[in-house]
Amino acid sequence: ASSQIKAGERSVFDIGGRKVGGDHFAMIAGPCTVESRDQLLVSADAMKAAGATMFRGGAYKPRTSPYSFQGLGQEGLRLLQEAKDRTGLPIVTELMDVRDVEAVCEVADVIQVGARNMQNYTLLSEIGRSGTPAIIKRGLSATLEELVMAAEYILKEGNEKVLLCERGIRTYEPAYRFTLDLMAVPVLKEMTHLPIIVDPSHAAGRRDLVPSLSLAAAAVGADGIIVEVHPDPDEAICDGPQQLRLEDFPAYIEQVERAAAVA
Ligand code: PEP
Ligand code: MN
Repeated sequence: ASSQIKAGERSVFDIGGRKVGGDHFAMIAGPCTVESRDQLLVSADAMKAAGATMFRGGAYKPRTSPYSFQGLGQEGLRLLQEAKDRTGLPIVTELMDVRDVEAVCEVADVIQVGARNMQNYTLLSEIGRSGTPAIIKRGLSATLEELVMAAEYILKEGNEKVLLCERGIRTYEPAYRFTLDLMAVPVLKEMTHLPIIVDPSHAAGRRDLVPSLSLAAAAVGADGIIVEVHPDPDEAICDGPQQLRLEDFPAYIEQVERAAAVA
């Protein structure tokens, strides 16, 4: 993950026709989870109209409680395919289990490795072999070295299209959900040539903090943002309080992209 660093090179690669890394800022947006056809397609259309780079949505959800909604699974993947056919936006969705790798790769342009699976080495190797690009989210208490080594499991199998994501780490501070470690961005850029993105939604756990954290991420040199957006956050099945409202998204993306352009 550091092989090109000395030459000052940064990874730039293509995902579904979009360039990622280097001077290309990626805005990955969409709901936490796929809930229904209507919820998903309304979201996808709005993300497309506002100019998002990719569309996110989980069909398999890593929930703290086994009694919480676990995602629509196969049906969720089918709906994501419909969103992709309709908008042309590349799809980012989470893979939790090696047994689902084929089904997920059929629709995913980017596989998301959730924070809780960052050190699931079997899963990482399998994603490496699949050749599908991946986003690895930093584990709840993972060091940057551990995050880079997780990426190495994918790279080792010959899959070079890996993005790293800072999504907040667990600290002693209980006033907000996680602590967004923005220093990780410039420091990871010293450690690796891979694109580094930031998830302000899961760090904050509340939508009012998301715009300013996104601007800060852009200012500190992030190569992109992954953010949650929902047509009706108050009724969302999961992560409602942190999801941006669809109607606020166009102004949000404009501001963040402007900040990224001057950074
Ligand atoms: C998500 O992106 O919806 C998610 C569960 O993220 P994380 O793995 O960072 O908690
Ligand atoms: Mn979520």
